[in-house]
Amino acid sequence: MMKTGHRLTISRMILLFLLIMMTASVQAEKRPKLILQITVDALRGDLPSRFKDVLGDGGFRYLIDQGIHYTNAHYQHANTETIVGHVSLATGSMPAAHGMVANVWFDRELDRLAYNIEDANYKLLTAGAGVDQKSEIDPTQKAAKVEGRSPDNILTSTLSDEMATHFAGKSKIFAVSVKDRGAVSLAGHAGKAFWFSKASGEFVTSNYYYEQYPEWVNEWNAGKPALAYSGKAWELTHPAAKYMFGDADDKAYETDIAGFGKVFPHAYGKAGDKYFTTKLTLSPAGDELTLDFAKTLLEKEQLGQDDVPDYLSISFSSTDYVGHIFGASSLETEDNLVRLDRTLADLFAYIDKKVGLENTLIVLSADHGQPEVPGYMNELGIDNAHHFDTEALDKTPIIEALKEQFGIGEKLIEAYFHPYIYLNYKEIGKKGLDRATVERAVASELMKLDGVAYAVSSTALRTNRLPDNLMTRSILHNFHPKRSGDIYLVFEPNVFINDFDGLTVSSTHGSIWRYDTFVPVIFAGAGLPAARVSRLVTPYDIAPTLAAYLKVKTPSGAFGMPLQEVLEQ
Ligand SMILES: [Zn+2]
Repeated sequence: MMKTGHRLTISRMILLFLLIMMTASVQAEKRPKLILQITVDALRGDLPSRFKDVLGDGGFRYLIDQGIHYTNAHYQHANTETIVGHVSLATGSMPAAHGMVANVWFDRELDRLAYNIEDANYKLLTAGAGVDQKSEIDPTQKAAKVEGRSPDNILTSTLSDEMATHFAGKSKIFAVSVKDRGAVSLAGHAGKAFWFSKASGEFVTSNYYYEQYPEWVNEWNAGKPALAYSGKAWELTHPAAKYMFGDADDKAYETDIAGFGKVFPHAYGKAGDKYFTTKLTLSPAGDELTLDFAKTLLEKEQLGQDDVPDYLSISFSSTDYVGHIFGASSLETEDNLVRLDRTLADLFAYIDKKVGLENTLIVLSADHGQPEVPGYMNELGIDNAHHFDTEALDKTPIIEALKEQFGIGEKLIEAYFHPYIYLNYKEIGKKGLDRATVERAVASELMKLDGVAYAVSSTALRTNRLPDNLMTRSILHNFHPKRSGDIYLVFEPNVFINDFDGLTVSSTHGSIWRYDTFVPVIFAGAGLPAARVSRLVTPYDIAPTLAAYLKVKTPSGAFGMPLQEVLEQ
């Protein structure tokens, strides 16, 4: 009896051991070695499919044909700008909670406009690599008054923070982008961020992250990869006839920024020219440099080489700049996507070799979409598209009348910086006026202006005296009491601001409308099956999905829902 029983116990134990091993191996398969989060700045949700005919294999086609493609993903916050979207992707949260309400907001304590991730407590590791006020064309970057950068303004945790916490600091966490805000956002508070300095032509970081550069970064920068573009030009990949916009290169409504021209080839000029590095960022070259840096990082930091999942975020910025200056419906945008597609194919092939795509969970999305250029729509007979001059707001007759009514001799509208209007508190205080009354009066007058769909005061938002509709809900999602301005102005669809601090561009995103909220959400790799899902989802779902997939806790401000199609596999 005893003997038989003992034998049975042993065979049971072996069976149990085998079962545990099988379960363990199933679990190990389920946990990827690398999370690769790709963000394409301003990639509107329809663009990859729209230009699929000119794309090759292994890039977007790999994602769309072999991944889980959510074809109806929309943000639900009002200000569809870069930092807002990036931090929403990182945190699964909205600006009302994560606090990044705009690229630039008026800091009432500093009494000046402040750039979202500027931080006087930290400095760049490379002297002179900050914003060059003389050649910077990005007006949001120009608003930064200090060179230091950190994620300290991000108020809730990121998925990368949760990975760091869960895996006892053993996850390697990195984020890279041409834009500082495209990298700092996704690295979170626990990861490391690198971005491209137009001033130095190098990838740089701040002493929030490092006391000194890792040796491989010094080596990469010493190789001066940007110089390879000196004297060259952005040229078409295919013969013009192959493109949807092949016969529409020369358009009056496109903008010629820094002498980059409106037609192919777009010459970069010589290294050392004032706008040489800027032009690299306005073309696929910026993404190619980002790719090269990211591949080196992956290799040198040994990402995805052990059982603790690592995290790499790459935000490709060129699509945004190309969209701003040439529009979403232009030959430049079309060829830029062809080039980005090659960049993605190169990245996926490299990751397959180093880590294995079956060990890598890829998610691609965008920080916001983008509108059409008014001139392009006008050509098609869509006449309501036009520009709105926010500089003139304070001088409009309705505001002049209010100034007279309140006895204000100075400016009443202190500043408009997208998306908020800031009132002149000093004057309002001096006259002993009730700020809420003035706010309400200005908002209600502004709604009479042609092109304005809605204007809502922050007092109304705070006290919840609002009608419930698409506009008020997305403005509330964007509202943070310490950072939001006094009045949120919503323009009608197809009405745009196109003058930012003296820079005129062809198209401007940042609205609540569907062309700006629409982004792709695609999960691929890690053995996921192909699927196309048209259900309405949000980019806030990404971080909770990754958290659930990794079985780590959800970021602190996240409210998106895990996407079942990804988790069921
Ligand atoms: Zn952006």
